[in-house]
Amino acid sequence: MTKSTSAGTLAPGFNSLGLDDRLLQSLTTLGYEEPTPVQREAIPMLISGVDVLGQAATGTGKTAAFALPILQSLATNERMREPMALILVPTRELAMQVAEAVHKYGKPLGAVALPIYGGAPIETQLRALKRGVDIVVATPGRALDHIRRKTLKLGGLKIVVLDEADEMLDMGFAEDLEAILEATPSERQTALFSATMAPKVSAIAAKYLRHPKTIRIAVDVKVSGVAPKVRQVAYIVPRAHKMAALGRVLDIEQPTSAMVFCRTRTEVDALTETLNASGYRAAALHGGLNQQQRDRVMKAFRANTTDLLVATDVAARGIDVEHVSHVVNYDVPSAPDSYVHRIGRTGRAGREGVAITLAEPREHRMLRNIESATKQKITISAVPTVADLRTRRLEATRANLREAIVAGDLEAMRGVVESLASEFDVMDVAAAAVKLVVARESGEGDQREIPTAPTRTSAAARPMSGPRYSPKERAERAERAERPDRAERVMRSERPDRPERPARPATKRPRVTSTQEMVRLFIGGGRKLKIRPGDIVGAIANEMNIAGEAIGAIEILDRHSLVDVPSTIADEVVTVLRGTTIKGKKLLVRRDLASQPRK
Ligand code: ADP
Ligand code: MG
Repeated sequence: MTKSTSAGTLAPGFNSLGLDDRLLQSLTTLGYEEPTPVQREAIPMLISGVDVLGQAATGTGKTAAFALPILQSLATNERMREPMALILVPTRELAMQVAEAVHKYGKPLGAVALPIYGGAPIETQLRALKRGVDIVVATPGRALDHIRRKTLKLGGLKIVVLDEADEMLDMGFAEDLEAILEATPSERQTALFSATMAPKVSAIAAKYLRHPKTIRIAVDVKVSGVAPKVRQVAYIVPRAHKMAALGRVLDIEQPTSAMVFCRTRTEVDALTETLNASGYRAAALHGGLNQQQRDRVMKAFRANTTDLLVATDVAARGIDVEHVSHVVNYDVPSAPDSYVHRIGRTGRAGREGVAITLAEPREHRMLRNIESATKQKITISAVPTVADLRTRRLEATRANLREAIVAGDLEAMRGVVESLASEFDVMDVAAAAVKLVVARESGEGDQREIPTAPTRTSAAARPMSGPRYSPKERAERAERAERPDRAERVMRSERPDRPERPARPATKRPRVTSTQEMVRLFIGGGRKLKIRPGDIVGAIANEMNIAGEAIGAIEILDRHSLVDVPSTIADEVVTVLRGTTIKGKKLLVRRDLASQPRK
């Protein structure tokens, strides 16, 4: 095996990776400024035709690392009627997500990617397969189903990707995977990606990969000194609540000057806009700005006329600012050294600095990797609650009142107090005045509680290798991934401390049974917006970390859609959907009062 270690940050940009101009164009459109380490290594390798064995945690950008080379091959070879690539993933959510990503990256090529997973009507998949697809993204069980029916033809396959191989093996898909790989052309190219290299993963790699090049990201990156005076905190927040969580954290932390890092230009622009609209003074810095614009932004930041500099890694590189009190990672950076670069902006010259990271539940492992690479602790904290914020506000108000009393010059106000004092207790008058001040200072978003997204506690606490599920759990998981229609519906338990449920041991999965009471939600968009049931399931399942099968009947009408969800999570679903977009649009979402859910 040839060994290559994590690449440095020498070659910026996607230009030198050998990708077709049209693909570079879609990356620009998506706001990607530079490849992540796994992309920088894997893309040229896969384009050169060799097999690749990659170890990288969630959030390191693996999808583009294999999707772009597949699309590159599609761009340079004659198009066939049969699929040229098969990507195997553990769950239906991932199948949808990866197919969507492939579609986005390959849009200018007109690439057709089809997700295939259990639970969706097989006829639709059959029709799509018949029409001809370039890239199939499938869960192993359903893929095998189609292979046996001879509806998924493997003869034209040039490349097979096993994404999240450890998960697939943990879920009991080993035999299915072997059967699928045996049925593919022996001269195919194979890539295997996994967060861990457990023995089972190595075994399947040894059997099916030919002289693979290996890539290993993030576990043993050499990292030079993190400033010791930086307090490092992370909050685990579902994606839909990140903006609210950021606002809450900023309100509590009151940074004098902060840099907020995002992954893409698009995110930088969107976040800056939202922050400004919410009353913060934020400015965007990314690779899309010309020199003059950058200078202006930097000048304002240095002069403290902007408090928040929202930036991509690329744009912030080489920028030197004194007095950054806080660094915020709006996303977990894709590699530990990028984390170290980012947080190195604060805690300079002996001052205390704070590094805050917002991580989605699935990115938890990435945090662990950063901890082990930096040998420093990142404390996981709960997002400040409404009560925390209120306490903090009251504290601030108290301090301000003290100052005002000491400063004196209160004659005109005394008159107001005196006139009320004949009628009320002076204490009450004062308290009411404080209430008014506090009310004036709090924004409208302050009353909403942000759900804490628990980490995948069990998985994270366990060692990086070795079995992570008992055989019974494994069978359950596999079944869940493939057969969501069975009578007993099961929900994923990645949120054991969901507020309205009592805490449960991490191994016991909360169940949603078919007798569960359902509530119908109204969504203000339908066929006219080209919304399909998958879009709604995807939006809910992705944002909430619940399995698609927990969601009930979906009806798409011309201008609106209806979806049934378990009553226990209905309010949360509403909040989540309001905070996200479906088919790129923010839609009206509410409980539907007009109709009863179907049984
Ligand atoms: P993984 O499969 O390793 O968990 P994904 O491929 O799902 O990671 O990517 C994680 C996130 O990072 C996605 O939102 C993706 O759009 C984004 N992303 C991937 N590559 C880049 C890049 N080069 N620049 C900016 N964002 C990226
Ligand atoms: Mg992935």
